[in-house]
Amino acid sequence: MIKLLLAFVLLLVTPLCMAKSCRDISLQHSVDAKSLWQDFTYLASVNMQGRKSGSAGAQLAREFLQQRFTELNLQAFATAPNYLQSFHFPQDDSEKVGVNVVGWLKGTRFADEFIVISAHFDHLGAQGKQVYLGADDNASGVAAMLALGKNLQAVSSIYSIIFLATDAEELGLQGAKAFMRHPPVAHSQIKFNLNLDMLAEGGPRKRLFATASRQADELNQKIKDVASMAGLCLIKGHRSDRLGQTSLTQVDWRKASDHSAFGRHDIPYIFVGVDIHDRYHTPKDSADFVDQRFYTAAVETAWLLLKSINQEAL
Ligand SMILES: [Zn+2]
Repeated sequence: MIKLLLAFVLLLVTPLCMAKSCRDISLQHSVDAKSLWQDFTYLASVNMQGRKSGSAGAQLAREFLQQRFTELNLQAFATAPNYLQSFHFPQDDSEKVGVNVVGWLKGTRFADEFIVISAHFDHLGAQGKQVYLGADDNASGVAAMLALGKNLQAVSSIYSIIFLATDAEELGLQGAKAFMRHPPVAHSQIKFNLNLDMLAEGGPRKRLFATASRQADELNQKIKDVASMAGLCLIKGHRSDRLGQTSLTQVDWRKASDHSAFGRHDIPYIFVGVDIHDRYHTPKDSADFVDQRFYTAAVETAWLLLKSINQEAL
């Protein structure tokens, strides 16, 4: 009788005990955390001076990405020799030049069909002595993209994969728009976009979000499945606790980053990133404040999402 009662009590209590706190981060060791951190901290270092589009810091970031793309054995498109795709865009009554960094890996089964992994490398630069390092926004997404590239050397992809580090995102998604205006392959060959923007700063609630394009029930199901396997709290669909506490009053998440340029062409996407936070677009968005475990788990979660997309016909 006592045993039975005990079993009954345990049954009642177990589900509550199992409710995972978002503060519990577990690592799956599915990405190279050391090289991820090295790439991340270098991109977010003062050497890069906040990587403002058109600046010497942005050029240094591009040169670093060219070197890393070479190390990852990525191919270059004829339209982006040495991985560089230049483009023009209007700003403040003049014409500016931006430069994306683009490379690709050939897929084993659907070589003519492409998944684009995107992450913007530009940020806000410096104002006087104040340097906007842009660690979370978006050294974190670019270093994550490189980590996925490293994994894809060991585990081959059935789709071809384009790695797109965009410039001038902060000036109106200019790099992603230019990529879609002059894509290296036909629009019809681009099957999916995984956009990585701000993966490092989970805020007090330690949450990562994944938002799929509209009418994407299958993608939403994949996000749910990955959420059940992830080493951190992955929430389906961005929503913000911060609105009203920052200068922002609302965020249209579907237009908030480069995935929007793909969405306009009806290309399905998943956008992975954290909520707006206190250090967003301030000089305090620095690697010093980043919880390395959360960031690593976030990149491992992006890897789970990519694997889940990359295992069947799109
Ligand atoms: Zn960003």
